[in-house]
Amino acid sequence: MKFGGTSVANVDRIRNVAEHVKREVDAGNEIAVVVSAMAGKTNELVAWCKEAGSHFDNAEYDAIVASGELVTSGLLALVLKDIGLQARSWQGWQIPLLTDDAHGSARILKIDGSGLLDCFRRGEIAVVAGFQGFHASTNRVTTLGRGGSDTSAVALAAAIGADRCDIYTDVDGVYTTDPRVVPKARRLDKVSFEEMLEMASLGAKVLQVRSVEVAMVHKVKLYVRSSFDDPADPKRGTLICDEEEIVEQQIVTGIAFSRDEAQITLREVADKPGVAAAIFGPLAEASINVDMIIQVVSDDTTTTDITFTVPASEYERAMGILEARREKIGFAKISGAQDVVKISAIGVGMRSHSGVAARAFKALAEKGINIRAITTSEIKFSMLIDEAYTELAVRTLHSLYGLDAKV
Ligand code: ADP
Ligand code: ASP
Ligand code: MG
Repeated sequence: MKFGGTSVANVDRIRNVAEHVKREVDAGNEIAVVVSAMAGKTNELVAWCKEAGSHFDNAEYDAIVASGELVTSGLLALVLKDIGLQARSWQGWQIPLLTDDAHGSARILKIDGSGLLDCFRRGEIAVVAGFQGFHASTNRVTTLGRGGSDTSAVALAAAIGADRCDIYTDVDGVYTTDPRVVPKARRLDKVSFEEMLEMASLGAKVLQVRSVEVAMVHKVKLYVRSSFDDPADPKRGTLICDEEEIVEQQIVTGIAFSRDEAQITLREVADKPGVAAAIFGPLAEASINVDMIIQVVSDDTTTTDITFTVPASEYERAMGILEARREKIGFAKISGAQDVVKISAIGVGMRSHSGVAARAFKALAEKGINIRAITTSEIKFSMLIDEAYTELAVRTLHSLYGLDAKV
């Protein structure tokens, strides 16, 4: 059972979590629990790091931001004991949950599940601090990237051979789009791993992308549900499962959006072999992910315009790298936009249906929304538009593909 930040936001909420745990224990299950930090805590810790750190150090950053989960794991263990259950807290290094040393977004290498299994033998509930791991040879605490407690939970479930991994959050499942933006969004009973992976990658932050990858590889039965349901009478959530298990397949399953995008345009770039390499090589070396790329065919045959997107957080760095190579690459002008958003439609049904994206282009045009860039792949397509139109565009596509809840 994994509980996110809003589910453990204060001691009262933690008492509520304990009731969910008790229900499962009473039903005869052996439980390991993974908790996030209290809502807002990690943001506060990150802000403190920035405030303190003229000598920014990723290892110290991890030591600091991992502390939020220490508090909630201890508190939940206390509260469980209070209602008569046996429990103890576990930090990442105590398990140990071993990772590489990519501080801030470390990858899990190995988990020793034996300590938790011993817990079960003693009839004790293991309460694990999510988000954090341990790099053995440097003897340092690591963290798994924002939203990483989901991945802690799924990886632990795989390591101990759990029957199920339940992700408790503040919504009662995975919806056709973010229910906070589209009130008509519908809860999905089942979503395939592949679609969930795309939805998470394209902005639906209900699950961390890596948690879905790990579940897919290790065949962990993943269930998203709400901790705000009555612990005595929980409702249904969303099962993430293999495509074959889903009987009623829609063409489009969900709409995702990401505000974490920035657009860069290079004008009058010399149109000759090697120019794309000259632009994107240095960005790759700087570990900047380039997503959408458009090269315009220009009237004169000697120059072209190239537009592409990078994560908003890398915008300044990318602009700096390109400015510094203006002569070498050979472009006349560089411009950028940060008030853009990427809207995506996802569905395995796109494999067997044509014209799915074309309908979206038409629908957005009718609302006067200009599309700046487009990318497509087998089970999704994405469009870059002005941020001001985010909600209108998401709602338009949501209705267009028949996803609105019937009222
Ligand atoms: P937690 O703290 O429990 O990990 P998160 O805030 O990380 O919770 O994720 C839950 C949130 O994800 C929801 O409150 C919702 O606004 C957002 N969300 C975005 N897209 C979706 C979606 N397709 N389905 C459900 N929730 C979504
Ligand atoms: N507390 C961490 C975060 O806010 C990890 C998590 O909640 O999953 O990113
Ligand atoms: Mg989360």
